[in-house]
Amino acid sequence: MTSRSTDLKEPIRDQSGRVALSGLSLAQIREFVKDLGEPAFRANQIHSWIYAKWAKSFDEMTDLSAALRNRLQDVACISPMEIATLQVSKDGTRKYLFKLTDGKLVESVLMAFQDRDTLSACVSSQVGCAVGCTFCATGYLGFLRNLAPQEIVDQVMSIQRESGKRVANLVYMGQGEPLLNTESVIESVHRIIKSVGIGGRHITVSTSGIVPGIERLKEEALPITLALSLHAPDTVTREEVVPITRKYPIRDLIKSLKDYAKTTGRRVTIEYVLLKGVTDSADQAKALADLVKDLHCNINLIPYNPTYAEDGTSLYDRPSRDAQLRFKELAERSGKTVTIRLERGTDIDAACGQLHNTYSA
Ligand code: SAH
Ligand code: SF4
Repeated sequence: MTSRSTDLKEPIRDQSGRVALSGLSLAQIREFVKDLGEPAFRANQIHSWIYAKWAKSFDEMTDLSAALRNRLQDVACISPMEIATLQVSKDGTRKYLFKLTDGKLVESVLMAFQDRDTLSACVSSQVGCAVGCTFCATGYLGFLRNLAPQEIVDQVMSIQRESGKRVANLVYMGQGEPLLNTESVIESVHRIIKSVGIGGRHITVSTSGIVPGIERLKEEALPITLALSLHAPDTVTREEVVPITRKYPIRDLIKSLKDYAKTTGRRVTIEYVLLKGVTDSADQAKALADLVKDLHCNINLIPYNPTYAEDGTSLYDRPSRDAQLRFKELAERSGKTVTIRLERGTDIDAACGQLHNTYSA
């Protein structure tokens, strides 16, 4: 295991210069408490108030003295991230738009499933994205900046504090390309496992296919699921819809996924957006089956969720349900489990155009 980068500029401060505590690791909270001249066990108490009890204010931290609580109030805050908007869908999906300390906005989503009592959240890893996939609203935004590990972890904590509900599954499928912000994403995964308490097996990192990032993640040997947004089995189509294919060709991607699955023993997920007339042909379904047959994977088909340009037009259409099922049947020739993603929150435009979740047809 390689050592983790330590120069990830942290902790974050609010507008009054107070240190933000939510999203920090226990070691960082220890450092903060030490600087205050307080005994080390105070760090454990504060960590537990933040991560186990989802405290919203220092007043709640009743096992700290009133003097310390007042002091904390002056020099620290729980979270400087504001909820700019919150939309709640008829199906219970909650879409948050968070305002960061520099005024930039990122989205996170909390998804409820009637057939399951666990909740899934989707977090962003960057503000905007440089990859520029042609069907993705975030792609149009372009890249603005990376998120710090603390900002990624605090999305999950802010959701829990606001909703009062425990996030059981987490996907890195909001804005941004996680493996173009790899060190921060890896650090955030460690904190989410250790401090937030979500098991690695319930965490999925989704990538458009950044080979060095996949290699780096493999070295870290985290017990998480890696999802590859493949979207087309042939180079011509993939270069069109996921332009980074020119840098990391399909055969290199599949090779690096095979290595990843072999080294980690984890089954990877192949994500595949169905764009009518572009990625949904019978030939492409057969080519997909062929491409992944020797890879330890599942396939998740994502019917395109239309995103609209300013003039109200959409570049692509979603294939009919029949066409989706035909594609699924052909893809199943790979011998892999193939699911069609169930959408959540369509009535609130759950967002980056991609904020849906797993499962199944
Ligand atoms: N950048 C990463 C993770 C964020 S996107 C990645 O691309 O994998 C999460 C998933 O949603 C990706 O598979 C992405 O291709 C898909 N997606 C993006 N826009 C979509 C849309 N309009 N309809 C359906 N899926 C979309
Ligand atoms: Fe970026 Fe993922 Fe959107 Fe592509 S699909 S532009 S990689 S966020």
